[in-house]
Amino acid sequence: MRFDIILIGITFAIGVISIGIAIAIVTNLRRAHGFWQLALMFFLEGIYATAYALELASTSIDAKILFNHIQYFAIPILAPFWLLLAMKFGWRDKKPKWWQVVPVFFFPIVVIISVQFTYYTPFDWYYTFAELMPGTASTLFIDVLVLGKGWMYYVQAVHNLLVLALVGTIYLKIALKSSGIKRRQSWILASFGFTASLFISLTLFSDVTFGLDYVLYAISVISFVILYFMFRYELFVLSPSAHQATFEKALDPILVLDEHYDVISWNAAFDDFGQDVVHFGMPLSATFLPEEIVESVKSNETVPFEHHEKRYIAETFPLTAKRGTLNGYIIRFNDMTSYLERIEKLDYEASHDGLTDVFNRRAFFAAAAAHLDDAGHRGDDYSVMMIDIDDFKKVNDTHGHPVGDVVLEELARIIQTSIDENSILARYGGEEFVVFVRDTRPEDARLIAERIRVGVEQACFLIGDLNIRITVSIGVKGAKVGSGSLKETIKGADEALYISKRSNKNVVTTVL
Ligand code: GH3
Ligand code: MG
Ligand code: MG
Repeated sequence: MRFDIILIGITFAIGVISIGIAIAIVTNLRRAHGFWQLALMFFLEGIYATAYALELASTSIDAKILFNHIQYFAIPILAPFWLLLAMKFGWRDKKPKWWQVVPVFFFPIVVIISVQFTYYTPFDWYYTFAELMPGTASTLFIDVLVLGKGWMYYVQAVHNLLVLALVGTIYLKIALKSSGIKRRQSWILASFGFTASLFISLTLFSDVTFGLDYVLYAISVISFVILYFMFRYELFVLSPSAHQATFEKALDPILVLDEHYDVISWNAAFDDFGQDVVHFGMPLSATFLPEEIVESVKSNETVPFEHHEKRYIAETFPLTAKRGTLNGYIIRFNDMTSYLERIEKLDYEASHDGLTDVFNRRAFFAAAAAHLDDAGHRGDDYSVMMIDIDDFKKVNDTHGHPVGDVVLEELARIIQTSIDENSILARYGGEEFVVFVRDTRPEDARLIAERIRVGVEQACFLIGDLNIRITVSIGVKGAKVGSGSLKETIKGADEALYISKRSNKNVVTTVL
């Protein structure tokens, strides 16, 4: 059995596979958390293993030294990268600061450069000499390099030892803070960090390198374990189950369709929503959804939609693969019921008077302005009437404010029933009402006003055992859409009202 060939083969395979993994991570999983650091670690390890396999395979000392030097582009920065990875694993959103990164990487970079000068030049800070040792059983009969360790070798070893101890400490801290899978993983990774640190400390006790480089194989095992953990945690356990749970537990009904609009999947909320049988492969048009919804979903529009007294907005999202091919669609039915009800309630409250329930002043101006700004109404007649209760203070003084309030409510109802639905009634102020009468000349508006005045005069306001009678004075002003402002027309109606008040009240005055 040629164990030497097997070992060289395995080492070479580790190198090639590591570089392959690095490429796969970079091209496919860039978005996953902390993966680019992992890709770099695998890349470095790939260089290390491939060059080491070539070092083992070559027979001359010159070739071995060349491949040894190539390994040194990776070896000094493996531990620092592991440290970055550990930080990433622990501090999800924090980025290491430059002053934390620079000291960790500075010395390794000095080593990378220094090593290249050993053997070829008298520069012997890192390695003091190099010899070829003939293979023995312990090296599987492969001839190996024996290198004398210079002072820089020891500094590098201590640096690595500290960095790895720091790695162990970081994982240990994470283990103590977390629970579940992450806790278990962190314990294992912490023990790896400390063990690696301990191994490095052993190299301090000899002054020459010796035999096969077991560090490479240890590092490979560690990085494959990290890869497995990261995959398991990020991609296999947490993310998919989180996505699944989000889909299943969503309160909004969600439907997943393939590219032909056939049903692939749906969540529990959709089951309740449909109250109907849905099955895999069913065309969207065969579901309970009305045809216009199906059509608008297909044309990728956001559509409002009512179902079982609830109001939804159906939103369609295309599901595209990375290369842009369309795989299907997700339709989410956003339940807008309570939101819309709240908006409508707020809208109503903002535009209506709390006591009489007719429009308030703001809504009056908005509604009247909408009519006046409409170019189609240009030149049309319109009128404004101002209605004010006569001697209302007396009602309040005699019967109290609450009774006055009921009178106001009743009066609003009487006015409302006396005008048509095209007129805009609003409470203008305390006990003053305004009416915008469209398409009506002042003489016709006067007839309406007269109807109101007589209606109020004849009405009995029965409140408890009280029988209250009131009268109103009204001012009417006519105008044409497009000439003069609404404010001016209101002012005219107000002046007319003032005339009514001066002529003994309970009358209608029209000004032209
Ligand atoms: P006039 O015939 O000149 O209009 O006499 P009047 O007593 O109605 O006088 P005026 O219009 O100046 O007074 C309005 C009164 O309406 C004063 C105020 O107490 C009362 N009032 C205003 N808003 C309310 C309300 O919301 N509820 C009640 N109960 N009274 C109100
Ligand atoms: Mg009054
Ligand atoms: Mg008044």
